[in-house]
Amino acid sequence: MQEVFTALKLTLILHFLIISMPTSLQSQLIPTLKTNFGYDSFRGQQQDIIENVLNKKDTLVIMPTGGGKSICFQLPAVMLDGLTLVISPLIALMKDQVDGLNANGIKASFFNSSQAPEEQQNIIDKVIDAELKLLYVAPESLGGLENIINEKYISCIAIDEAHCISSWGHDFRPSYQQLGFFKKQLPNIPIIALTATADKATRQDIVEQLQIPNADQFISSFDRKNIELEVRPADGRANQIVRFIKQRSSESGIVYCLSRKNTEQIAKKLNENGINTDAYHAGLSFDDRSRIQEDFIFDKTQVVCATVAFGMGIDKSNVRWVIHHNMPKNIEGYYQEIGRSGRDGLKAHALLFHSYADVIQLRKFASGASNEDVQVAKLERMKQFSEATTCRRKILLSYFGELLAENCENCDVCKNPPKFFDGTIIAQKILSTITRVKEQEATGTIIDVLRGARNANVLEKGFDRLKTFGIGNDISWKDWQHYVIQLINQGVCEIAFHKNNALRLTAFSDKVLFNGLKVSLTYPVETQEQTKTVKKTKTRKASTNSLFERLRKLRYRISLEENIPAYLIFNDATLKEIEQVRPMSESEFLTISGVGQRKLEVYGEEFIAEILDFMGSKIKKPKKTDTHLLTYELYKKGMTIDEISIQRQLKSPTIYSHIAKLYMDGKDINIFDFISKSDVEAVHMAKVELGGAKALKDYFEHFNEQMDYFKIRLALSVIQKEGF
Ligand code: ADP
Ligand code: ZN
Repeated sequence: MQEVFTALKLTLILHFLIISMPTSLQSQLIPTLKTNFGYDSFRGQQQDIIENVLNKKDTLVIMPTGGGKSICFQLPAVMLDGLTLVISPLIALMKDQVDGLNANGIKASFFNSSQAPEEQQNIIDKVIDAELKLLYVAPESLGGLENIINEKYISCIAIDEAHCISSWGHDFRPSYQQLGFFKKQLPNIPIIALTATADKATRQDIVEQLQIPNADQFISSFDRKNIELEVRPADGRANQIVRFIKQRSSESGIVYCLSRKNTEQIAKKLNENGINTDAYHAGLSFDDRSRIQEDFIFDKTQVVCATVAFGMGIDKSNVRWVIHHNMPKNIEGYYQEIGRSGRDGLKAHALLFHSYADVIQLRKFASGASNEDVQVAKLERMKQFSEATTCRRKILLSYFGELLAENCENCDVCKNPPKFFDGTIIAQKILSTITRVKEQEATGTIIDVLRGARNANVLEKGFDRLKTFGIGNDISWKDWQHYVIQLINQGVCEIAFHKNNALRLTAFSDKVLFNGLKVSLTYPVETQEQTKTVKKTKTRKASTNSLFERLRKLRYRISLEENIPAYLIFNDATLKEIEQVRPMSESEFLTISGVGQRKLEVYGEEFIAEILDFMGSKIKKPKKTDTHLLTYELYKKGMTIDEISIQRQLKSPTIYSHIAKLYMDGKDINIFDFISKSDVEAVHMAKVELGGAKALKDYFEHFNEQMDYFKIRLALSVIQKEGF
């Protein structure tokens, strides 16, 4: 008995050792997160997911866009020995993610068909020499990695956008279906599959096809609290859009349109109003589309007017707003599109224009389709969302099977609850006009009659002789429209979609007209712009010289120099925190969320200098940053770079950047102690060959990563100063 007990205990201990992560590893999670990604804490279920992966268990992660999926496999990748192979469907996304990782000092690369064979071999060699932590690969290119798909090299497999495996999903990719071989070939290696697509059928398909039926599933809430939801009637939408964007100068955004023509019209209008905009649709060449996408990612264009084709490859975290110029055809599409805003967790705004013309158009598109019923039903839900008089987020989330207990307080209905009044007389006026035009006329004509418009259409048909002609000229055209829509929503009248959209009576109409049935209507709500315009433009103007604006410009300049998107240097959330905290020393700078060790070393000094300069100009006592001058003091004492670096607790690349600055400022620096003439000559030649490229990274790549950044920087300083 004792033996059995001991054996059991032993098994339990063994079991414990095998399945749970050593506490030492667990205690490293937060420090590793801070050092490598700059964040101080995990979001939502990130930590549980990461622990699961580190415990070598298969994992399925369902998290909305912007929820923070990447860290769930990137952090384990940094902590585990060997390589994490990341399967990713889009080459454009891979490059972005790899640039982001490299900016954090994490060794990552990608492998795909765009690369030359030597380049591919170079990557394979790096894997064999254990020089890479993450490798992104498109499923089509897996064949080229045969030699390293081996438990000897690989510690984890991450499958991003895992819904592509399922033919149920909207982005089905046949090449994803071969991925089941991983589990057969590498049975001991954990697989983590990630997607933002929630439905059950897709989820089931993913675990079955990847052969990970026992994967632990982590399903996050789909609520994106930071996105403010708003719906407005569509009249004059082009002007409304201009006003909306003008109040958000320098904020990136997307305007989704139904047709190519719309994208071009709106883009033209915005450009005429001084808003830097591109139009994007499937009719453009591949090169044009790539250019537009890239300019948007790099903040070179503020706005893209696009059809739904735009966005799949966009991983830009600082999209601050999304406008739907037209109504999307279903809630899935709407949610995916608005989800492209506010990925950094900061406030974002989703504005949808609701128009009956769009509903009619979408119905036409659906008619005749094999699944017409489904499409029409989905459109109906979209319409209900647009017409809601209760919290919109509740409606949205309930569509995805999630119930919200409280109102969200971040949608237009919550912020500005509709005020109801007895609208029976208004309803009777409308219904009576519909009767008098014999149920043959669409909304526009009904309103014209009510308002007594003497236009050609009204006069030709003799409507000016109707009893209701002009009985409603005390109510604006827009408000009448608002009331008609409400009557339709309440079933008091209806639109005959197949008969020129004529308004018709329903069973309710008679009750309202003759049987005393009361109708409740809501007053039209003023849009935010209309109420706040005056105040806002003032504050916005003042802010162009704000610290945030200066930090943003600095970030933009560095992004051009390094040829990576601005938000990969620091995302907007980090930039905002820098603005608020105003760190003035390196240790303070490191406390910012989003600043890890490498970013401190590479960008800290310039940002601190900008803050000091800003503070100096604020207190009208120009005070220059002196961090490089401290280095100069030590240099003059005869200390080496390493000694200075130890004394100042700064990494040597930072000290070298001080040296470059001191040299440029004309201080007494013997620059050739740090760089040989032949290196300067080599960089000079490279500069000519590269056609005067600015980004250090271009040189770094030109020298096949064999010349250090600090040398390139010093050489460029010499070239500039000596006027080569
Ligand atoms: P997803 O892949 O789920 O769409 P990402 O991984 O791109 O989302 O993350 C979205 C944004 O959130 C990124 O800007 C990322 O840096 C940020 N982020 C992720 N995790 C955290 C965290 N723990 N703390 C702060 N920001 C985070
Ligand atoms: Zn709400």
